Amino acid sequence: MAYIAVLAGCFAIGMMAGWKAGQIDHYAYDLMLRLQPPEPWAPESVVVGIDEETLGLRGGARAVRPILSEALDKLAVVKPKVVALDVILSDREDPGEDARLEASMRSTRNLILPCELVGAKWEDPLPRFKDLAVALGHVHPGQDGLDGVSRQIPLEETTGGERRWALSLEAFRVTRGEAIVESPEDLQIGGILIPAARSAGGRPMLVHYLPQGSIPTVSVLQIEQHPEMLRGKTVFLGVTALSLARDRLLNPYGEPVPGVAVHAHAFETMARGKFLTPASDSSVLALCLLLAAVAGATFRLLPGWQAYLLGAVVLLVVMTALPLEFFRYGIVFPYFAPVAVAWLTTAGAASFQHFFVRRQLRRSESEKSRYQQAIHWVAHEMRTPLTAIQGSSEIMTRYSLPEAKRHELSAMINSESKRLARMIQTFLDVERLGEGEMEMKREPFAAADVVEACLKRVGPIAERKRIRIALDTAVDGMLIGDRELMEYAFYNLLTNAVKYSTSETEVHVTAESRNGELRLAVRDQGIGMDEKELKNIFRKFYRTKRAEASGEVGTGIGLSLVEQIVSHHGGRMEVTSQPGKGSCFTMVLKALIASDAETADRRG
Ligand code: ADP
Repeated sequence: MAYIAVLAGCFAIGMMAGWKAGQIDHYAYDLMLRLQPPEPWAPESVVVGIDEETLGLRGGARAVRPILSEALDKLAVVKPKVVALDVILSDREDPGEDARLEASMRSTRNLILPCELVGAKWEDPLPRFKDLAVALGHVHPGQDGLDGVSRQIPLEETTGGERRWALSLEAFRVTRGEAIVESPEDLQIGGILIPAARSAGGRPMLVHYLPQGSIPTVSVLQIEQHPEMLRGKTVFLGVTALSLARDRLLNPYGEPVPGVAVHAHAFETMARGKFLTPASDSSVLALCLLLAAVAGATFRLLPGWQAYLLGAVVLLVVMTALPLEFFRYGIVFPYFAPVAVAWLTTAGAASFQHFFVRRQLRRSESEKSRYQQAIHWVAHEMRTPLTAIQGSSEIMTRYSLPEAKRHELSAMINSESKRLARMIQTFLDVERLGEGEMEMKREPFAAADVVEACLKRVGPIAERKRIRIALDTAVDGMLIGDRELMEYAFYNLLTNAVKYSTSETEVHVTAESRNGELRLAVRDQGIGMDEKELKNIFRKFYRTKRAEASGEVGTGIGLSLVEQIVSHHGGRMEVTSQPGKGSCFTMVLKALIASDAETADRRG
């Protein structure tokens, strides 16, 4: 269930990754901004708005210039420090009204006027107005094309070689009475360092919005009622009536904001010195790498549920506390990339470990059960020699027997106990070889001796089934290693060939020296194996169904030992087989001293 959930999560995120990543980052940014409790702050600015009521009483949109005159005149009385105007005044209108506005501007202290980029040209206020301003600032609202939210504004905008600062920046500069000191990375005004690196976006600055209502807003109609609120402040004067707004802007709180308020918030961002800066690409990459490493280590080092628990905690932290904490310090990480990386790597690590552990468990379980089977078999096999030893010794103690009989019985006890010891030894060898603990001799011996000894030993067993064993070629070559082990291995191949053949068939042994390799092959005409069985026969305790059905007793240990012995000698096994037709087991060994025949061949 949890696994499905993880998969579903991965999938969902993967799906979203394609087209939603940027939007998710934005939503997360907005959410984090809303979740940040604003520290107490006394705003330095006031928005003076031409609101719906003002428009209604003063004659609508066409009366904007007389309204501005009225506002400036009233402001002149309450004496704000700076007045930044957010109404474009580039067209000539009614001469009387313009003259009145010019007069009002003349009596305004520290007036900043807006300019706008139209096409590739700056559209400035009429010269009569422009001459009265201490500065011109552009009013590009920095609206996000995706969702209409204004999150950042370009502090600098250049066209035709003419650069203009943002209206809010100019207002801040004039308020502080300082110059702007530029560097490629930031702007400095007085003691405030504004992190706005020069880029294609014109030194973008994230606006650290205050919650709605934090910056006082006064209607033009009510300026004279609030002299205290306005005196000495930086006033942003513009249209707040949304019906007249030129573009519909939203702030990250999801509320509609007039452009003039965006400038005021940008201004307060600078005044507070509480900047939000996007994390650099390299730190995003570093964070993602760290998260991947944490996920990997968690599932590698911790067992089962503990890993899942820690993985879940890490995911939770990455999705909530981590971005919030960075945000608190003014660093904005993209939300999507780290979260996606954490999810995908956690899911990947978890499923990998899940399957890995399950596979190991299954393997060790099947080994255990085969091991138990083998123990049963050994215990069963031990019974025969034990019974013989027990019986013989009892007879010997109970009865007085003729010397010949006594001798016979004690010889039997001796050989049966040797058989027992051999059985135990073989069994232990299997384990030790498997663990790589077996010590191997390293001495030269003739391959022919091994073959000869084994053929002699297997003779009686083959005879019982009337199976003819033929040595088809002469055996040449010297091997280096453990002769006893090699004999054990080759003997195993011979007994298997006899065991898994019906009576009156033939077993052929061949030897071939080629390129410094000795190929010792045992070919039978027995029950054979299919492809699938062939893949498993060297596994410890594996037996084919066919072999079980043949009624031959076995442990499934022999071949695993053979393979280990051969590979300990630097060689390999090759097997071909066909069900019902027979099998051919070939030991390919390194012949360290070239055979005479081969040397002769080369000379010839
Ligand atoms: P055992 O013979 O004790 O079962 P081995 O490890 O020697 O164990 O062999 C493993 C399995 O490989 C056998 O059980 C049998 O299924 C198969 N096998 C081995 N040799 C032959 C052969 N010559 N012909 C057919 N099957 C064989």
